[in-house]
Amino acid sequence: MDNKKLADRLFPKVHMTPEELEAKFPPRKLPEGAKVTRFAPSPTGFVHFGGMYQVMIGERLAHLSGGIFYLRIEDTDSKREVSDAARRLIQTLRDYGINFDEGADIGEDGTICDKGEYGPYRQSLRANIYHVYAKKLVSEGKAYPVFTSDEELEAVLAADKKEENKTKDWESEAEKQRLETLKNRNFTLDTVEKELAAGHKFVLRILADGDPNKKTIFDDLVKGRLEIPENDEDFVLLKSDGIPTYHFAHAVDDHLMRTTHVIRGEEWLPSIAKHIMLFRYLGFRMPKYIHTAQIMRLDENGNRKKLSKRDLGANMDDYDEKGYPRESVTEYLMTLINSNFEEWRAQNPSKLYTEFPFSIKKMSVSGCLFDYDKLMDVSKNTIARMSARQVYDRLLSWTKKYDTEFYILLNDNEQYAIDILSIGRGGKKPRKDFGTWSEVRNNISFFYDTLFTPDYEYLKNADKQTVLSVLSEYPTLYDERDDQNEWFTKLKSLASKLGYAPEMKEYKENPENFKGSVADIAMILRVAVTGRQQSPDTFEVIRIMGREKLTKRVALAQKSLF
Ligand code: GLU
Repeated sequence: MDNKKLADRLFPKVHMTPEELEAKFPPRKLPEGAKVTRFAPSPTGFVHFGGMYQVMIGERLAHLSGGIFYLRIEDTDSKREVSDAARRLIQTLRDYGINFDEGADIGEDGTICDKGEYGPYRQSLRANIYHVYAKKLVSEGKAYPVFTSDEELEAVLAADKKEENKTKDWESEAEKQRLETLKNRNFTLDTVEKELAAGHKFVLRILADGDPNKKTIFDDLVKGRLEIPENDEDFVLLKSDGIPTYHFAHAVDDHLMRTTHVIRGEEWLPSIAKHIMLFRYLGFRMPKYIHTAQIMRLDENGNRKKLSKRDLGANMDDYDEKGYPRESVTEYLMTLINSNFEEWRAQNPSKLYTEFPFSIKKMSVSGCLFDYDKLMDVSKNTIARMSARQVYDRLLSWTKKYDTEFYILLNDNEQYAIDILSIGRGGKKPRKDFGTWSEVRNNISFFYDTLFTPDYEYLKNADKQTVLSVLSEYPTLYDERDDQNEWFTKLKSLASKLGYAPEMKEYKENPENFKGSVADIAMILRVAVTGRQQSPDTFEVIRIMGREKLTKRVALAQKSLF
């Protein structure tokens, strides 16, 4: 067979050569050790938490090494494509502060465009590039056409997908496929000419030379050394519409875009023998790989399940609505990605996560467990590290979108809100009251008269005379110039006067001598002012509320007793 002729017949319009492409997309001029990584989503929906996990690894590897991180849209499967998904996923990544140095981007007019010299970055625009290499493989006798109908092709692809589920019939099935392959491989230029003349379409298959009884060594940077049986399957390179399969596009794109490290889901690991073959056939050097395990979660019974599309936390767009700051989510991802991140964070509370010395060596081999409580915990810590001003600004923009009533209150009196949000902030042990913006409202609602829904149960159950005395006397004792010490001294003398121990120690030693302790008096005051038994420091609360509100609150509490 004259392969060169066959190649010309199959790809008459392809005139570019691989050499020209090599020259057009030369190796990148980057410092020694710089890594080139990419995120290569298919635009079939939202960004999944597992995808974001890969994004973080790719981004960190590239940028910590002075390399390039780019975005490639893998839109070769138009049947699975969701309209607008590409734009939305770029937006989501932007929202999370992920910066791509190049790749598909949203242009000023809102449509998708390309940024960078190694594009196009959407596979649907790269057909002519794939065909150059397809033609090369055919001309070297490494790929061949199979004329087939769409239905047949569908069946073949479906069978490919089921690869891992091969049943007992495996051997006879494999034998059938082998015979089929041999039949397909057996054709003449003449039959090809006839098929083409009749306008029939073909799929392009690789001519596999592997022997599955032989193993190749493959090193995954996280999973370690693996032994992979060679590929003997004539898998599809181009579908009948000329669009490449994932395998073919992966080899061509990652080569021409000069990717050094491929970070992708472990579902691609079973295909690695195909990729090894393709890179060899094409004369490309293989990149390094990290195959990431699926993110798992625990179900109601404590069993590990994969975090699937519909599970809480899977969709990166949902976090905003739930009120998680972006930083909390990226922070949580970092704790999952590197086991020593938390320790580093404890030592470096004010540094950006980008300053963390991320390392592949510290990545978990077995994959990660998504843990909602842990996320909340990380988020509380993240918010606790923010300044009151930052919290205010972020809360304001969140409420503007999701809670107008609260937004108006926050916006009307900025200083008041910042004072409230300053309580317990800074210092060695900052308060960790909320993990999401949606929790703030309940937490501080008592500061706002329109949101104030007091629970006076405690006052109703306490000694009535004491409650009435505290409520009537306290406002006259209050002086806004008092510091916390003076404030508490006054509370203690009030306690004493009403027959309550001013010191806890005294009370504990001789409880029979007292009606109670200063703690009871403080609680009466707290419940009257905040309408709840748990609140930040009452001194702070009253200081921020001021005399007028204090008087109003006390009057309201008094009224509730009758
Ligand atoms: N489009 C592929 C996917 O979404 C990308 C895999 C890869 O990163 O190579 O699974």
